[in-house]
This record gives sequence, structure tokens and C-alpha cells, in this order.
Amino acid sequence: MNSFNVEQIRNDFPILKREARQGVCVIYLDSTATSQKPVQVIEAMNDYYRRSNANIHRGVHTLAEEATTLYEGARERIAKFINAASSREVIYTRNTTESINLVAYSWARANLKAGDLVILTEMEHHSNLVPWHMLQMERGIELDFIPVTEDGLLDLEAYKSLLDRRPKLVSFTHMSNVLGTINPADEIIRLAHDAGAITLVDGAQSVPHLSVDVQALDADFYAFSAHKMCGPTGIGVLYGKSALLDAMPPFLGGGDMIKEVKLRSFRANSLPHKFEAGTPAIAEAVGFGAAVDYLSAIGMERIAAYEHEITEYALDRLEEVPGVKLFGPSADKKGGVAAFTLDGVHPHDVAQILDQDGIAVRAGHHCAQPLHEKFGIPATSRASFYLYNTKDEVDMLVNGIYKVKEMFG
Ligand code: PLP
Repeated sequence: MNSFNVEQIRNDFPILKREARQGVCVIYLDSTATSQKPVQVIEAMNDYYRRSNANIHRGVHTLAEEATTLYEGARERIAKFINAASSREVIYTRNTTESINLVAYSWARANLKAGDLVILTEMEHHSNLVPWHMLQMERGIELDFIPVTEDGLLDLEAYKSLLDRRPKLVSFTHMSNVLGTINPADEIIRLAHDAGAITLVDGAQSVPHLSVDVQALDADFYAFSAHKMCGPTGIGVLYGKSALLDAMPPFLGGGDMIKEVKLRSFRANSLPHKFEAGTPAIAEAVGFGAAVDYLSAIGMERIAAYEHEITEYALDRLEEVPGVKLFGPSADKKGGVAAFTLDGVHPHDVAQILDQDGIAVRAGHHCAQPLHEKFGIPATSRASFYLYNTKDEVDMLVNGIYKVKEMFG
């Protein structure tokens, strides 16, 4: 394995060179919310608009063909990146949230009835809670939750008991955006299948940071967003096994998702177009493809190993600070997320004071309000790490927290 050259990687991210305010560089510790973009992605999108812009699939002219090739080429590379059996199984959506909603609107409304059980977990992002609340209100499905233990892990024994109730769907996050917990997705899926359930994995935080193989996991559905993995906003993916996707009714109606339209009827297109109504985010797909190329060239194993090193260092350093309480498991069970509280200081104040030194962390419930309630707190400050962060930046974060403590006496 070549050594991981973080300085070289940082050179690819122009934004990391800008000042947050005069004389203060940006220290970006908020990649869990969205990642920064390398010049390779920015240029690919620029080039697309400068050279190839046209609508896809419908034209025979050179630009339309070129745009279609770029759009579909990106899909091929994304399919390979997650080891999908075919690019037909990769549906472009707007983001993880829309991918989960697609399953809730199409698969779930065709397959679930009143009283059917959907299992979620207590550590879900609102994106994997609210679509199911909505279905519960509309259909009377039942929801239950795999509990989270004090140290931020899923209680798998409790999960096994829940499975005795024969759920129809188990939908869970592969990696928590608050605790950083990397859940044992393979085991959760195997147990769900043994109980006759379909699985949906929220991969918003896992695909950017881990090597994900949807076939090895045997996931039925897997959702993720480009913007958290060095790609642009406005595009995400729903992976689904083709047998499931083929059997599902379309979600949105309109152009591109049809094979034929009559005045009083239509025939849906084949996969993956069946779920892509209207002019899609073409430049964003091109950028997504470039992001996948970028991450693949570095290697997801190397990225994960580097992030592990930074996370371990960050947790050790943060633990040293009196009054800091960290949430989530130890570094060996989590990705690059450090959510914490500081005694006597509101998380928003922590974030605001850190910002004076250019340090970008997030404060709030991070769209995981029930999880915060479980831990009896309204909010946390959250620092998160990606391939471009350094130990020096962790040190600056820790120094910044000491400064906050001084200010609050
Ligand atoms: N799920 C998890 C675990 C997340 O962290 C996020 C975003 O932070 C989402 C879902 C929603 O992602 P998006 O806003 O890209 O739809």
C-alpha cells in the first residue's frame, strides 16, 4: 500500500486554501454534512457545460449523444464502485432522502398493508424515519426500533427478538451520522432475510468512507448521496436488486420514464429509466462519476485506514479535555465522527466560537432528534473527518475547545 499523501490530496481541494476570515484558514470539520469537492469534479462539470451540454436520450445530434454517453458512463462507474451486478440497478435520485422515499412510495405502498411491521433503529437520520411515519399515518403499518446501547451500538439481541414478529422490511443506517457507529450491515441483513424481510440500507455516511459491496452485503436496497463523497449536490443513488425494481411501480410520472404514452394510458420504461422522470441532473451525474473516479484512484481501503488514524487521534485528544463528553463507540467501531458536549456550554456557542478561528463544526441534533432524546440531550457539537483532514487540524480543534472553556470560565 502506497503511503497516503494528505498534502497532495489537499492540493486537489481549492476551498481548503481560502481564508474563513482575514488571516484565518478554513479548517473544515463538517464533511458528514457535506464533503468538499476536488478540482477533478469541478472541472468535469465545467467541461460538460463548456463542451457537451444537451438533453440526454432524446436527440441524435452529436451533443445529445455525448451528454448521454457521459450520463450513462457515470452510472456504469458508480455501479462498479458499489459492485452492483448491473448498472440497471443504479437509479439516479436527488439524494439519499429521495432514494429512501422512492422505496417508501413505490415498493412499500405496493407491498405493505395495515399491521405490517417495519423495523428501523433508534439511531436513524430523519430521512429514514419520516417517510415511514408518513406511511404509518396513511396505511397503519407498524414501526419498531432496534435500541441503541449506552456505548452507541445497536442491541442485536433485541433485534433478534424483534425479528420474531416477522417484519416485512428492515431499514437501517450503515453508519451513524452522530455516533459514527459502523453497524454490522452484513449480519443485520442476513438475519432480516432469515426472517423473510426485505432490507434497505441508508448508506449516506458509509459509501463515502468505506469500501461498500452491495452484492457481498446482499442488500436489497441501498441509498446514498454524491455530495457527501466529493461529488456535487442534487444527485444521489438508489441501488436495488433488479428483481425488486422490475416489480415495482414507477414513482414519478413524466418524460424519460415511459416507453409509450397514449391519451389514456402509458407503458413504463425499463430499468433504470423507469424511475427517472423528467430531465435529470446531467452535469451532476458527470460530477458524480468524476467523484467516484477520484475516490477509486486513491482507494477506499486507504481512505478508510487514513480516516481511522485521524479518528483515533481525535478521540484520544478530545478525551483529554476536561468537561468534554464524547458520544458513540470507540474508534475501532466507528467512522470519522466525533459528537460531543462541553460542560456548561451550549453546543451552538462551541461551534460559533470555533468559527472565529475558522474551524467549521456543526451543532444541533444533526437530523437525529430521537437519538439525542435517547441520550437526554437536545444537541451536540460534531466534528467530522474526511480524507483531506490532518492531525494538525485536530490539534487546532482541541486548542479551540480550550479557548471556549476559557471564555466561559
Ligand atoms: N442519512 C444519513 C445517515 C445522513 O447522514 C444524511 C445526511 O446527513 C442523510 C441520510 C440524508 O442525506 P441527504 O440530505 O443527502 O438526502
